[in-house]
Amino acid sequence: MSMKKYTGKVIFGGIAIGKIRIEGKCKQIVKRNRVDDVEEEVIRYHNAVKNAVAQLKTIHRKAVQDVGEVNAQIFEVHAMMLEDGDYMESVENIIRTQSMNAEYAVAATGDNFVKLFSEMEDEYFRARADDIKDISDRLIKVLSGEEETKEHEDKKEAVILAAEDLTPSETIQMDKDLLLGFVTKYGSVNSHTAILARTMNIPALTGIEINQSWNGKLAIVDGFHGELILEPDEATLSDYQAKKEKISEEAKENRKLMGMENVTKSGKKVKIYANIANVSDTYAVLQNDAEGIGLFRSEFLYMESDTFPDEEKQFAAYKQVAETMGGKKVIIRTMDIGADKKLPYFNLGVEENPAMGYRAIRISISQPELFKTQLRAIYRASLYGNISIMYPMITSVWELEKITKMEKEVMAELKTTGIDCRPLERGIMIETPAAAIISDRLAPMVDFFSIGTNDLVQYTLAVDRQNNNLGDFYNPNHEAVLRLIQTVIDNGHKEGIWVGICGEMASDLELTDKFLDMGIDELSVAPVFNLAVRKKVREHE
Ligand code: PEP
Ligand code: MG
Repeated sequence: MSMKKYTGKVIFGGIAIGKIRIEGKCKQIVKRNRVDDVEEEVIRYHNAVKNAVAQLKTIHRKAVQDVGEVNAQIFEVHAMMLEDGDYMESVENIIRTQSMNAEYAVAATGDNFVKLFSEMEDEYFRARADDIKDISDRLIKVLSGEEETKEHEDKKEAVILAAEDLTPSETIQMDKDLLLGFVTKYGSVNSHTAILARTMNIPALTGIEINQSWNGKLAIVDGFHGELILEPDEATLSDYQAKKEKISEEAKENRKLMGMENVTKSGKKVKIYANIANVSDTYAVLQNDAEGIGLFRSEFLYMESDTFPDEEKQFAAYKQVAETMGGKKVIIRTMDIGADKKLPYFNLGVEENPAMGYRAIRISISQPELFKTQLRAIYRASLYGNISIMYPMITSVWELEKITKMEKEVMAELKTTGIDCRPLERGIMIETPAAAIISDRLAPMVDFFSIGTNDLVQYTLAVDRQNNNLGDFYNPNHEAVLRLIQTVIDNGHKEGIWVGICGEMASDLELTDKFLDMGIDELSVAPVFNLAVRKKVREHE
């Protein structure tokens, strides 16, 4: 037995420990027959639609109980899709003109529609391709007289499910008590499957190459680091068991704090915001009662794409987040590409020291077209909520002057084309020692500072944040780091601007008291940590 680790993308955080069960989902083999009586076949198809709609009603009822009305809606949508005019017309047409059986007509229609949707520009519609596949598979099962598979019916042991792919209806039908977590190879973080996993509070990863030989083996899903650990050794296992235990105890306690204020015992209000990587994370932000979004890492929009996302695509994403947050603060950080965040379609060239290389604002400043596209999208979205803009990796005053000039140009251009926008609250990340040291010079130029401790630690201590072998040398509590943080807070306050922290240190509960004593105004953490930080703040004397 040897422990192995696989890295994927996080759909939902948390820790699951249990045996893996491979869900062997083979592609349905669809019978292809000629039929003599096409009208009878059309009737058989319509009956199948009725049955499938009835199945979905049952699933919908279960979903309302499990994940609430809003999330359960997808199954009503599926029922509507089954009765969609274009879809029906296509199926009927294939049956009538080609004299083909209904199974074949549904499969062919399904394939065509899936293809159509997956090629759409709009991410939302692309994600709907999965729903079409789901309804088509359901219809084929009904037509071929197959029983609906009930997950875990005869398998009472809770498992970590590993599958190539999971449809929303498969996910919702799983018995929550018997599902510890899941890992899939395919599936986007925006899919309904992902949304349901988050709602059901199930640690889940995607982008992991599943191997049949894992079946029945013990594994750990680490939904914080995006890792699947197969056949963990004793030490790792007990380490994770302890972590898991701690998490669930704390989570139970923390739910009691929903709806409460982020205020210390002496009455100081602190903003506790959440960090997100994509639109669908907004859901977790609201679920964990965060007051706003303190860091929207917009580069993930670029990383999820095969080409640079255009203005429309970015605008749609920013608008959706702003609208969903309903007037709560949304701080969009302009793209922080480079270093470990590479884009396959953007040649960054080979660099000796990429972390100190061509990244973030350096790319934005030297590629104005790229940058202005993003600025336009953000400024356009300004009308739909409470958006702020924030720039990463600042080191000098001249950079900020240049950015400010570009921002003004973009606003003027929008105005001349008749597009409305609002002036935004503007901030910078303080994540280089240079920015921290000259924060007195930078403060008058912006509305807020957000300290990116992940990078600030690496640049201050000269420890690569990507290097796991540096152990204690990566020490966020180093006096040098803490002194810089204090300098930034003091310089910000002297100018009357607010100062927050959005690096991982913000969720280190052992530091919360210290940050509050230092005068911090905002802490932005992964959504799942929001209530824990709230608790700590409320306990602060
Ligand atoms: C940071 O550096 O602390 C930060 C929040 O930015 P990122 O982790 O995305 O580099
Ligand atoms: Mg950073």
